[in-house]
Amino acid sequence: MRVGALALQGDFREHLAAVARLDQEGVEVRTPEELATVDALIIPGGESTTIGRLATIYGLMGAIRKRVETGMPVLGTCAGMIFLASGTTGPEQPQLGVLDVIVERNAFGRQVDSFEADLRVEGLDAPMRAVFIRAPWIEKVGGAVDVLASVEDPGGGGIHPVVVRQDRILATSFHPELTHDDRLHSMLIDLAEEH
Ligand code: GLN
Repeated sequence: MRVGALALQGDFREHLAAVARLDQEGVEVRTPEELATVDALIIPGGESTTIGRLATIYGLMGAIRKRVETGMPVLGTCAGMIFLASGTTGPEQPQLGVLDVIVERNAFGRQVDSFEADLRVEGLDAPMRAVFIRAPWIEKVGGAVDVLASVEDPGGGGIHPVVVRQDRILATSFHPELTHDDRLHSMLIDLAEEH
């Protein structure tokens, strides 16, 4: 499979390293032409407003939306999850709106900026070490969205989804690309093979 990583900003190189560990071809995607060549796309962590602003300038908003709507599998991590979502609890920013969730950016910020946890993810046989870095959580999910993992708000605000799936869209609040645990990347490649 040819797996693209949106390479406008953020840690796309770490994602491409995961793709290489799985013996698949990885490519940096910055243009609609490059996007057209891939079987699946990864949207990395970074800064979601910057990714959105650059994607608008590079003419990628409509192009990515169209590929996702016609079945291309996509994995969004952290800022990538925010970029896929339909809204945030804060001010408006460029978002693809293909994943029917509302996210809260920097949700853990008041308590802990960054932390790690062993997370049970539905569909994976053993827990995954999850690195959260100024991470969002999901505030509201739409009917077509499956919640695969959640975490407790350290501030006592209840439990919030941090891994979700909607058809061929996978999104995580944390950074699976930083721990050399490639099971979610592998899930993305399986989805691309099925497609
Ligand atoms: N806080 C960032 C944002 O809102 C996301 C952080 C990350 O990707 N690690 O865009």
